[in-house]
Amino acid sequence: MAEDRDAELQRVYLAFDKMREQIEKMAAQAEFGVGGEHEEVLETYKMFAYDEGWSRRIIEAIDSGLTAEAAIERVQQRTRMRMRQIDDPLLADRMHDLEDLSNRLLRIVSGQMGTAASMGLRQDSILIARNLGPAELLEYDKRRLKGVILEEGSLTAHVVIVARAMGIPVLGRVRSLRAAVREGDLLLLDGDQGNATVRPVPAATEAFEARFAKNKERQAAYAALREVEPFTRDGTRIQVLMNAGLRDDMPNLALTGADGVGLFRTEFQFLVSATLPARERQTRLYRDVLDSAGDKPVVFRTVDIGGDKVLPYLRHNDGEDEENPAMGWRALRVALERDGLLKVQARALIEAAAGRTLNVMFPMVSEPWEFDAAKAVFDEQLKYLKQQRKPLPEAIEFGAMLEVPALAEVLDILLPKLSFVSIGTNDLTQFLFAADRANPKLAERYDWLSLSILRFLSRVVKANAGHNVRLAVCGEMGGRRLEALALMGLGIERFSITPVAVGSIKEMVRKVDLPELRRAMSGWLSNPPPDIRAALRHWATERGIETD
Ligand code: PEP
Ligand code: MG
Repeated sequence: MAEDRDAELQRVYLAFDKMREQIEKMAAQAEFGVGGEHEEVLETYKMFAYDEGWSRRIIEAIDSGLTAEAAIERVQQRTRMRMRQIDDPLLADRMHDLEDLSNRLLRIVSGQMGTAASMGLRQDSILIARNLGPAELLEYDKRRLKGVILEEGSLTAHVVIVARAMGIPVLGRVRSLRAAVREGDLLLLDGDQGNATVRPVPAATEAFEARFAKNKERQAAYAALREVEPFTRDGTRIQVLMNAGLRDDMPNLALTGADGVGLFRTEFQFLVSATLPARERQTRLYRDVLDSAGDKPVVFRTVDIGGDKVLPYLRHNDGEDEENPAMGWRALRVALERDGLLKVQARALIEAAAGRTLNVMFPMVSEPWEFDAAKAVFDEQLKYLKQQRKPLPEAIEFGAMLEVPALAEVLDILLPKLSFVSIGTNDLTQFLFAADRANPKLAERYDWLSLSILRFLSRVVKANAGHNVRLAVCGEMGGRRLEALALMGLGIERFSITPVAVGSIKEMVRKVDLPELRRAMSGWLSNPPPDIRAALRHWATERGIETD
């Protein structure tokens, strides 16, 4: 119990001031470049730091007789309890930000200012934590911090987004690691393979170092291909574009030499934001992205919200839990109902692309009328802006994702309406095999090189022939060498893939004789060997094409 209520209040007011000052300072430092997603994260922090409700609850707790420390802890505990009742990973991330701030406030009030970060790090440190707030991460010396391993944490966690901006590999969901590691232990962290080895035996360290060196060598070889256009041996130009979703992804365009952005996931801005991004903020992002792409094309996909990408501030499903969110109220289905959402995005995209070509792609199109309805929202905005005599894009090209199998049956109706189609193999294969893409137990069960997938894709390629429609693949499948080879064998000549894979795929493309590959693939489809992956690997190896 506090003896002196006023003194406790004074302490808490001072602590709030100090904490706000720290956050402002961090935001002002802009150490990782201006305009990155970490700024959005810090904006969320600022929002919490100035949150009236939070400070009011702490003050009320002091009024009830608690000390400043006890009041902060009580509010923190209550928030934590409420948070446990809400089973929503994104909201959990936000709540975690609030915990981060709450701990900071507690440290300030109790005079324990020395955090692990401010005590300094040894050279080449890997940080292990149950969880970490993005602001905490920003306090570490990024020259010394070489990796982060979290017992909790998810791909959409703010801390992961910030770490990516800092170029630091992060491993999440590594259970009970803290108990198994002591400070100073040697630890190998392989971000590509998603694993870590504690106190490795010498042979493991050697193998790791060899892999690391080989990887570096390969990356250097791929980087040397940055300016080289990927032609196959028979002279077919394969388009290798990259996927993006954050402003911070854009420098990869120049670094990898990709032909453009074949999939810009616009929902990422919504995911890292504490509130629905206002139209001006959307326009600013799209304009920045187009500016940094220069002459290279960018395909903006309208928001794919819903499914596993739930926004706490948008009750897209009227608060109802869905049994199968991936097949539920998501993407275009939400956008068409909440056409305010799509309208705002359409306006932002059209305005941002003034004087240039705008490429718009709709996700989860399941029937052609959905494409028509979404396009009509853009047409309406275009008409309005024309009436307002606003500068308009030179051209607008519309496309659809092919990720719902039903759409493949009606391509004859859909294709004449659009300029491009992009096959989203992540969702498409989960729907073809009825296998949840987020379920680790199923991750390895069905092969991307299975006969069903390859035959399905082959039919899509054939249905597209004769239409003046660019056909691409933008799922993860296209970023893997053997899978990309198979896709080329099926007739795919356009890929949009994760930036780290661009160099590797360009290098592979240059070794391929396309007619020969297509003959082989056509033979496997009509006369299947027991294991197509093995057959393709054998075929590639015989021709000096590395398969992983
Ligand atoms: C896909 O489904 O393959 C795709 C590219 O989109 P996302 O991964 O964003 O669902
Ligand atoms: Mg998808």
